[in-house]
Amino acid sequence: MKIRKALESFEAYGWETPTYEIAEKTGLKVGDIVRLDTNTSPFKPKLALSALARKLKQADVNEYPDTSYHALRQALSAYTGKDLERFVVTNGADEGLDIITKVLLDPEDEVVIPTPTYTMYRIVSQIMGAKVKVVERNSDFSLDLESMLGAVGKRTKIIFLCNPNNPTGNFSPEKEVETLAKESGAVVAVDEAYFEYCGRSAIDITDRLDNVVVCRTLSKAFSLAGARLGYLAAKRETVDKLNLVRPPNSLSVISLMLGQTALTRLGEMKKHVGATVKERARLLDGLRGIAGVEPYPSVTNFILFRVKRGDAGKVHTKLMQKGLVLRNLSQVRGVENCLRTTVGTPEVNDRLLVELDRLLR
Ligand code: PMP
Repeated sequence: MKIRKALESFEAYGWETPTYEIAEKTGLKVGDIVRLDTNTSPFKPKLALSALARKLKQADVNEYPDTSYHALRQALSAYTGKDLERFVVTNGADEGLDIITKVLLDPEDEVVIPTPTYTMYRIVSQIMGAKVKVVERNSDFSLDLESMLGAVGKRTKIIFLCNPNNPTGNFSPEKEVETLAKESGAVVAVDEAYFEYCGRSAIDITDRLDNVVVCRTLSKAFSLAGARLGYLAAKRETVDKLNLVRPPNSLSVISLMLGQTALTRLGEMKKHVGATVKERARLLDGLRGIAGVEPYPSVTNFILFRVKRGDAGKVHTKLMQKGLVLRNLSQVRGVENCLRTTVGTPEVNDRLLVELDRLLR
């Protein structure tokens, strides 16, 4: 089979090692392995699940979902304060990113990506046959606006900005998003997957500028990674364009029910975010107390830290043998010898601190 030219030297997404494989390798039971590599919530959305359980017997699973996702957009409108016409509902934020590139990129077009950051921006762009221009962030991970604007050329269609940024955990001020949008003329795709842990957003800029698209997810703060729910927010004219390529039925009736419940009863999400933010501060303090690591401040639900003594890859393997699976970034440019951990429950965070201290003492 001859595949597309754009994919001939393409580096696909690096899938995480599945938990059952880690269990086979380490001899641990699946139930003793904690995934701290995916930035998901350690809390189940119990109220949303109970509400779903009550309604499940009547669920219209024999029918396709309402393809306009009207009820979910109404819930998003109530949650964000924006009109429901301002949203595109997507199968996770990843589908939102895919939609953005399908609307905007012709082969040989260019995108600008400040790195280190989330890998999918490169992937969805290269799949469209576009060229990726990488611009390094400053040493404190803030944006190098001058270099970013310097990288913008005639064929630059998108600037991807993960804000707050994965994996570094920092936030770039809203005015920088505005500057990029106004001075580049390209579309600024702002990925706010971790918005709720930070509380600041570029969404108000989409009231005014048609070249800013905010991409969000219910996978993190709303504890719904398994339900695959995301959305794009933009100016109405931009939403019409994004809808040109939106698949008509990519969300399930059951996911939509979960999403609607979660978005209309925010108490559970807020409680979980509050607990994570509190634990984030405690985990950061704990990491600061370990001589062999240097943690970076975070406004997300994960913390990046550099291993100062020894090899981060080895630390990663040793933690895995103890059932703690972190994200190994030791070979990633800009975050060399770093690991990233999700903020877990207090018990899991304590377990991580004890193991790290033991390993690095
Ligand atoms: N954006 C960022 C920055 C992420 O970290 C992730 C998940 N790791 C996603 C998007 C994907 O989110 P979703 O589960 O909604 O596809």
